[in-house]
Amino acid sequence: MTSLIEHNTFHVEATANDVLYYHDATDIAKLLTKYPDAKILPIGSGSNILFTGHYDGLIFKSANKDIVVTEQNADSVLIRCGAGVVWDDFVRYCVEHDYQGAENLSLIPGTCGASAVQNIGAYGVEAKDLIVSVEAVNRKTRETETIEQEHINYGYRTSNFKTLWADTYVISAVTYRLKVATHITKGLLNLTYRGLNEAYEKMSASMPHATPLAVLRHAVIAIREQKLPPVDTIGSAGSFFMNPAVSTEKARLLQEKYPDMPHYDNADGTVKIPAAWLIEQCGWKGYREGDAAVYERQPLVLVNYGKATGKQILNLSRKIQNSVREKFGIELRTEAIII
Ligand SMILES: Cc1cc2nc3c(=O)[nH]c(=O)nc-3n(C[C@H](O)[C@H](O)[C@H](O)COP(=O)(O)OP(=O)(O)OC[C@H]3O[C@@H](n4cnc5c(N)ncnc54)[C@H](O)[C@@H]3O)c2cc1C
Repeated sequence: MTSLIEHNTFHVEATANDVLYYHDATDIAKLLTKYPDAKILPIGSGSNILFTGHYDGLIFKSANKDIVVTEQNADSVLIRCGAGVVWDDFVRYCVEHDYQGAENLSLIPGTCGASAVQNIGAYGVEAKDLIVSVEAVNRKTRETETIEQEHINYGYRTSNFKTLWADTYVISAVTYRLKVATHITKGLLNLTYRGLNEAYEKMSASMPHATPLAVLRHAVIAIREQKLPPVDTIGSAGSFFMNPAVSTEKARLLQEKYPDMPHYDNADGTVKIPAAWLIEQCGWKGYREGDAAVYERQPLVLVNYGKATGKQILNLSRKIQNSVREKFGIELRTEAIII
């Protein structure tokens, strides 16, 4: 039995039968052949997983941290990353080489392999905007497949890897396309997200010699460090819940009752209501039960201030879901994966 405390950013004590490392698709196929009947959970950094006890199976982890440019032309570059590359190392690499596209996703914890599962997103950009293809081993056939982006069915924090293909693949590498420009100017950046332009201007003034990509990266990092708990010292999985989408009719009824309710139109005709607002309205912001708590700066984030167990955090999350359901008639779905 192996402890998983070093393998999850909630820092909860949990165990699995073993943690096994692979480098490439051949290694994955070998492991699958060696353990044909085992339950398997591929993970990256465990930064979106809540372990609630013993996992009676094997954890697969990529040890591949290779970042390789496989193709480049005047406009763009293809970069292939091993599934084990730390996502933010990839973002830093892109910014340092003046490859544009990933900078808004600076400092998101986790690995490149998981970026393709989760469709990570922040500040108006999602991983799907960059992903070209994903290399993965099919757990049934043990064959290596290259799956093109358009077949992965990406949506808000979701993909076929999380739904239709759950338990089907172990990802070995991800290929991204970034933009290349001889001279990247501010005009090429995505600063549409609320407050980002102001944060960019402020950072720009304090980094007069930095490239626009570096300025934006530092602006994003500064915002994130203010809002989110530091991964090393406070256990969390980032946003524990997803922002719910409701019908326009439901949104209208809620607005009548709560005129200050923030809401945003989704492209598919539904209305997004920030889960953080719903949770705060139910009085949970800063709430603490032992070491399991709702982060005081961002109520979407559940935290472990020390020795909380996965079960305690799960119980707290259920209480929050119940109260939001009772008050607003809205079902909060968890973004974090409960194991
Ligand atoms: C402080 C904090 C802030 C965060 N902020 C954001 C944010 O701004 N935006 C955002 O989108 N997310 C955010 N997250 C969530 C998290 O960073 C992402 O979900 C990230 O992609 C998880 O990466 P991971 O490597 O830790 O994956 P894990 O948590 O280990 O796994 C996530 C899922 O991917 C699957 N998976 C992982 N690797 C593989 C693989 N090689 N093959 C097959 N399946 C695999 C796992 O089975 C699991 O289902 C945040 C988390 C924290 C702790």
